This record gives sequence, structure tokens and C-alpha cells, in this order.
Amino acid sequence: MAKEKTRKSVYTFGNKKAEGDASMKNLLGGKGANLAEMNLIGVPVPPGFTITTEVCTDYNKYGREKVVEMIRPEVEAAVKYVEKIMGSGFGDKKNPLLLSVRSGARASMPGMMDTVLNLGLNDEAVESIAKKSGNERFAWDSYRRFVQMFGDVVLGMKPASKEDIDPFEEIMEHMKEEKGIHLDTEFTVADLKELVKRFKKAVKKVTGHDFPTDPWEQLWGSVMAVFDSWMNERAVYYRKLNNIPAEWGTAVNVQAMVFGNMGQNSGTGVAFTRDAATGEDIFNGEYLIDAQGEDVVAGIRTPQQITKEGSKRWAKLANVSEKERASKYPSLEEAMPAIYKELLDIQQKLEDHYRDMQDLEFTIQDGKLWMLQTRNGKRTGAAMVKIAMDMLKQGILTEKEALLRCEPAKLDELLHPVFDPTAVTKAKVLAKGLPASPGAATGQVVFHADEAEKWVEKGHKVVLVRIETSPEDLKGMNVAEGILTARGGMTSHAAVVARGMGKCCVSGAGNLKIDYKARTLTIDGVKHKEGDWISLNGSTGEVYDGKIETRDPELSGDFGKLMKLADKYSRMLVRTNADTPRDSQVARNFGAKGIGLCRTEHMFFEGDRIKAMREMILANDEEGRRKALKKLLPIQRADFEGIFEAMQDLPVTVRLLDPPLHEFVPHEEANQKEMAKEMGISVEEVKQKVHDLAEFNPMLGHRGCRLGNTYPEISEMQARAIIEAALNLKKKGIKAIPEIMIPLTGTLEEMKLQEKIVRETAEKVFAERKEKIDYLVGTMIEIPRAALIADRIAESAEFFSFGTNDLTQMTFGYSRDDAGKFLPVYYEKGILKHDPFQILDQEGVGQLVRMGVERGRSTRPNLKVGICGEHGGEPSSVEFCHSVGMNYVSCSPYRVPIARLAAAQAVIKEEAALAKSKKTETKAKKSKKDEGKGKKAAKKKK
Ligand code: PEP
Ligand code: MG
Repeated sequence: MAKEKTRKSVYTFGNKKAEGDASMKNLLGGKGANLAEMNLIGVPVPPGFTITTEVCTDYNKYGREKVVEMIRPEVEAAVKYVEKIMGSGFGDKKNPLLLSVRSGARASMPGMMDTVLNLGLNDEAVESIAKKSGNERFAWDSYRRFVQMFGDVVLGMKPASKEDIDPFEEIMEHMKEEKGIHLDTEFTVADLKELVKRFKKAVKKVTGHDFPTDPWEQLWGSVMAVFDSWMNERAVYYRKLNNIPAEWGTAVNVQAMVFGNMGQNSGTGVAFTRDAATGEDIFNGEYLIDAQGEDVVAGIRTPQQITKEGSKRWAKLANVSEKERASKYPSLEEAMPAIYKELLDIQQKLEDHYRDMQDLEFTIQDGKLWMLQTRNGKRTGAAMVKIAMDMLKQGILTEKEALLRCEPAKLDELLHPVFDPTAVTKAKVLAKGLPASPGAATGQVVFHADEAEKWVEKGHKVVLVRIETSPEDLKGMNVAEGILTARGGMTSHAAVVARGMGKCCVSGAGNLKIDYKARTLTIDGVKHKEGDWISLNGSTGEVYDGKIETRDPELSGDFGKLMKLADKYSRMLVRTNADTPRDSQVARNFGAKGIGLCRTEHMFFEGDRIKAMREMILANDEEGRRKALKKLLPIQRADFEGIFEAMQDLPVTVRLLDPPLHEFVPHEEANQKEMAKEMGISVEEVKQKVHDLAEFNPMLGHRGCRLGNTYPEISEMQARAIIEAALNLKKKGIKAIPEIMIPLTGTLEEMKLQEKIVRETAEKVFAERKEKIDYLVGTMIEIPRAALIADRIAESAEFFSFGTNDLTQMTFGYSRDDAGKFLPVYYEKGILKHDPFQILDQEGVGQLVRMGVERGRSTRPNLKVGICGEHGGEPSSVEFCHSVGMNYVSCSPYRVPIARLAAAQAVIKEEAALAKSKKTETKAKKSKKDEGKGKKAAKKKK
């Protein structure tokens, strides 16, 4: 603790000065760092200060009392700093300073943590504010909001479940009934005063204490509540979803209040420097007149557009006439032209400064514009690509920067199916809302987030339909195919969160009548029940009746350009794991440069094939097996021809049979009977065989090359099918490049025996056909022993492909099939950070991979090396594969573009790291030289 005492914990900003800057995100959080930076570049920001993320970590370690004691002097000094700029006093009865308290983590977590506004109000301060502003209603409305927010957030009165009613909302509803009014804005000053009284009574009843009137007590309570909210359930869930470590903590930003609810000359809004859904380079956003911050995102009132053009577009979508639009929902450009002009300049300044699309929050207090936040805006995958490529074209970014701007995993959104254009023209449009987050979604209607989770667990596809969403709905939104809301604009919670998740979302579809209790959705008088199918087009805002067929997307436009750019920089190639011509074609369309793993076992399950396969398994001797294999040969050959043709001119790695044979026989009695009948044998015989094949640890049992070495005729048949298929295509002028891969090799002898079978078979076929093709024989490296003796294995193998699924299984000793039972507990307890079957464990498994590559190449310098485990499409693992010098990664077809981008980023990051270390080296050399010169000079002097 002694060290912490000297540490700076509070950073002030205001009046175009700041103690922090944009580079200090880790310490000040994103919001705090940018508030400081905005001051430094001359943007108007209400003065305030940031309490660092380190304090949050201390809070979780040492608790409230210690932390308050530690930072009290700095906070008191910072409040004085704000008082000086504002010319008012915190706790001053005549001229009170009011504050806002907001969270701000290193990475933005929209709506996940708590905020308290209007802090510093009490029975005396409210009177002074009323007098000073000449607006009694505004003063009492702010007080009413403050007691409610403080009660909910700091005093914990917010109900835990969304289904329970907020006690303050309940009081307001009663009051509305009593007065016969409908809207909050219809409350009179007397009503608001009465509300405050009732709110305070409720506080006393629930907490047993009076509502705190001391501003300092309010401030400390609010700061600590923000720290507490870092650990609330939804924040924890959001962090998990976005890989944000709990250790980061949140900063707390305390600022002088500025008021958007001071009347018709005030307002508040949210804006984006470019379109966050499509990426188009147009300034856009929403605002509300006479409203306070949270009103815009909460989706309670219909927000107005900032630009006139945007407003017209909105009116068209919302079916609002031009006359009504201009009078009831004018844009900021029309309603407050001078403010609009200032905002337009500021947004340009901020985008130029940060060189990225900004998401801004602002408040207009009595005709003066204040910026409350700027951050790199969350965007859809499509917008991410368009913005990066546009900024490259506009000369804002270099090629490398544009590549780094795109998050590989986010490309996934662009790879999902879109509505089939002919199917969509036949579908009935039910409603139209705002195109809040693009994509196509088809699913069954559910109305509650927890229901969505339950339905999805049971295997359903759902569309979550809500009047509006809130942070409590996060989990349900995450599992849904799409989200549809009746209220809320393009910056509503649903829209912002859906875009962040890359989830299709249509918001503010006004003609939906949702009855949560009856679980019905009524559109134009027609009722739809829970479980009915609907479809959403998040790019147009259309809501369709029923299920609509989808089809694969294409790599065109900016996406195609980005991929080309990625290939320009990457050193590794990207192949695919595919075992059908269709998958091969999809992957080829996505830019795959070959097949890295064709699992032949999948080919044996369809139709008649399983029969021949079972015949082979049931056979009691080699002769019987050969007879059955003869039936399988033409089927396999035809399969390979299809795949080789789809992949012509590109290499195709075909793996020989891998799984334990028991996977091919039925385990249920009914199916065993059916098999007995088909095979013309008794059920007992089938049962006996199933019993014989049963193993205690099948994953460590009779599988992989152990099959090919005990039943060489299987490998022989497969090798023949591969070579014959390639020769057949050669005859048609199609070039096949087969690479034959031995699975589960652990000893050199295993490999050599298999290699011998393959090569002898190939030679035999060449002699029969009097024709040859080139082919390679290599192996999977998926057993730790193989990695350890990779130098020996490379004597026989011409290529290695790391099977990191099995390698992870055997290195950790976790069963691939059973790890799901304990992994969640392991994440919770912090034993593991990620699923090692998804993200390569570089620390452990990675060592074996690195060693395998190095040792293999020590024997065979030109050894071709790749990866074909699931990790081959996961960006951080791809980067690792690059760092150990692999030639390619192989992944499922839909991850090919992700891997292509990750492979390019790996090169760029490596270059940057190299340049950095060179710079430090030169610096170190220079300072050593200078030191030497200094010594020499000193010697001379002597
Ligand atoms: C592996 O083990 O990583 C692999 C690709 O093979 P499979 O998943 O088929 O065992
Ligand atoms: Mg394997």
C-alpha cells in the first residue's frame, strides 16, 4: 500500500487543459482518456476528473474504506478545480455545483455499468437551481431523476429481475393515474415535488435510512457504485463475450453537469461520423429536445435525426409525411442551425484527429454545445470493411493500417447466408422498421430474453421480439438469430448492441403491438403467437411473415478488395478442411488455396456406403475385408474425383481412415436388428461385433494409422482410390495434386509402414495405367510423441499437418468429447482463460508445435508444414502458426476469409515488432556510444 500512496489516482481536465491524454486508455479508461484529449484539441467538454482503473482494482482488493482514505485528498482537490472553472461550489447552498458520475473501462461496454446524474441536489440546492435557471420545472425534474437514479444504482433499489417493477416507476405510474395524465412531461412542478417526497419515503421504507442530503456522501456512494457495477452480472457476461479481462477494472469520470433538459433551447444526442451499419461516409445521429442523456439510448421517446437528409430518409421509412416530419420531428440542422454547424465541424475534427469513425455524445444546454464523449464507434462487419477501404482510398490510412483496422473474427458476419432473392420476393412483408443492423434472420418469435435462451438450448432458432431492449436482455440477444423492437431509433440499446454483436436487428417498427403477458405480436390487426416464424432483413428494415430460404454470400466489392490486399501481405496460404465437392467449391470461392484436410470417414456414412463399410468391419478375415473394400473402392474414387475437380490445380490433402471402427456400427437395439436384417446375419452376431469393438478409451484406442497398420488393405484401397481418381482426371485434362496423409502417427515405424503401402499401391496403379502423377506422402502431427521425434518422422514424411484437436487433447489430457463438463467451471475459477480446443494454447501445446516444425525441418529443410485442427481458423492461433513458420493454415470453408486476414495481420504485426526492437537496439547502442564518448571526454579532461 505504501507505493500506492505516491501514485497519482485522479486526473483533471477542463478549459482546454488536461492531465491525461488519449494514449492513457489503460489507466483512464476509453472515456476518460478521450475526455482529456478532446480538451487538448480544443473541443468544448464540461470540466471534470477521472479516477483511474487502478483504483477500481484496489477497490476490489481492499474495499471501500481503504480506497476512500487513499484517494480522498486527490478527489477533494479535483472537485475544487472543477468548482473554480464553473464558478460554483459543490455543496454550496446558494450556488451549487452539480456533478455526473460515469463509468469508463479500457474497452467500451455500452450500457453495462452504472451512471448517476444530477448529483449534489438536495432540498436546498434544488431551490437555488430553480432560482438560478429561472426554470423551476427543470430543477425539480432533475431532482426527481436524481433521487430515482441514486436509489436504483447506489442504494440498490433497482429490481433484480426485469419482470419486477422499479419502485420509482411504480410511484410515477400511480401519480399519472391520479392526475389522469400519460406522459412524464405532463407532470406539473407541484407533481414533481410530490414525486420527490414519495420517492424519498420509498427509500426510507426500503433501506431504513433517509435519502442522503450531503453531496459528498452522494459523490462517494456513486463512485463506489460504479466500481461495484464492474462486477455486476451483465458486465461480467459482456466481458466474457468480448474477451475483456476482469483485471482491467473501470475508471470513474466525474464531470460538471450540463443540462439538456432546460427547455426548448436544450437537448441531447448521439452521433456517428460515418454510418455504423453500412459504413457509408455520412454524418448521422439522433437527438431529443429538452431531454437528458439516457433518454436517447433508452428508446422511450422517438428521437429526431441530426441531418436534414437523414431526417427525410427516416420519415420515409417510418411512414411520416414531410409536413409532419418538418413540424414534429425537425432535424437538428433545421431546428438549431448554428449548433448543427458547430457539431459538424467538431465531428470532422474528431474523426481527422482519431483517424477512425467516431461515436459521439453531446448535450446542448441553453444554446451552448458540449461534447460528453467520443470513442471509436462500434460497427457491423460490413461497415468495418467499408470504412477501412474508404479511409484507404481517402488517403487517411495506409494499406497496412487498413488491414489492421479490420478484426478478422468480425468478417464472420459477412460470410453468413443472405436471403435468397427469389424467395424474398414471394414473402409477405408484415412491417417495416429501421435497418439497425444488417443481415438476414429467420426464426421463431419469442418475447423474453430468458425464453430465447431456453428455446435455443432446445435447438430452436429464434427472433427476439421486444418493445425495446435493455442491458438485461444481452444473453437472449446473443443467442437469437435476430432482434426486432417496436420502439427505439438507430442509436437505441438494441441497435447499438446488435451492431456490436453483428446480429441482424430491425428497430422501431412502430406498427407492432406487443403483449408480453399473452405472448402475442399484433401487426395491422393480425396476431402472431410465440413460436410463429418470422424473418428480418436488417439491411432494409423489412419484417417478413414465415421462414425464408437463404443462400451463400459472395466476396465482392470492398470485401473482395480487402481480401486481395490481405493476400498481398500474407506469407502463409489458407487452405480448407472439406470433404465434399460443395464445401470445396464454397471454400474456393472464399479464396482457399487447396484442401488441408479431407476426412475420408465422412464419406462412408451416406446411403449404401455404410452397408459396405459394415460388411468390411464384420468380416472375420482379410479376404472378407478385401471383398467389402472392393465395393467401397469405386465409391471413394468417385468422391475424390469430385473433390479434385472442384480443387483443380490446387493441392488436396486426403487423410486415410482415422476414427475407431465402432463409430460405424449401430449401438441401439432397433438399429442393430435392422443391420442384421440387411446383412443377412443374426442380431447376436451384430451384438457380438459391437461388443468386440467397444473400447474403454476409443480416442486412444484402435484408430488412426493403427487401423491401417493392422488392416493394411484399408490403406491400400484408399491409396488406390486417390491415385486412380487423379489419373482419371488427368485423362480429362484436369490437374489433381493429391497429398496423402497418415493420421495419428506416433513412431517412425508406423509412418514407414503406411508410406510403403501407399507408394507400392501407387506404383502398381501407375504400372496398370501406364501413366503417372505427382503426389506426396505426409503425416498428421497430433500425438505429442510425434512432435518430440519430428526429426525422425520427417525422414519419411514429405509434409506435416498439425492436428491440434488431438494434440490439445493429448497434451492437456482432456477428452475432446468430455471437456465440456468441466471447462465452464475452469473459466469461472480462472484456471483457464479460454477453451484450448478453440484458441491454441501457445504456452503448452504451442511448444510442441514449434518443436515439431523445427525438428522436422532439421531433417528435411523444405518440409511443407500446415495446421488442420480447429485452431487453423482462429485469428490468434493463425498468428502463432505464422510465427513458427508454417506454410499454410487450413480451416472450415466459412473461416477462410478470416484466416486470410489474420495471416496478413500476422506479417504486419511481426514487421512492426521487429522495427520496434530495432529502434530500441539502435537507441541502446547510441546511448552506449554516447556513454563511451562521455567517458573518453572525461578521461581527456583529466
Ligand atoms: C485434429 O486432431 O486436429 C484433426 C484435424 O483431426 P480430427 O479432428 O479429425 O481428429
Ligand atoms: Mg485428429
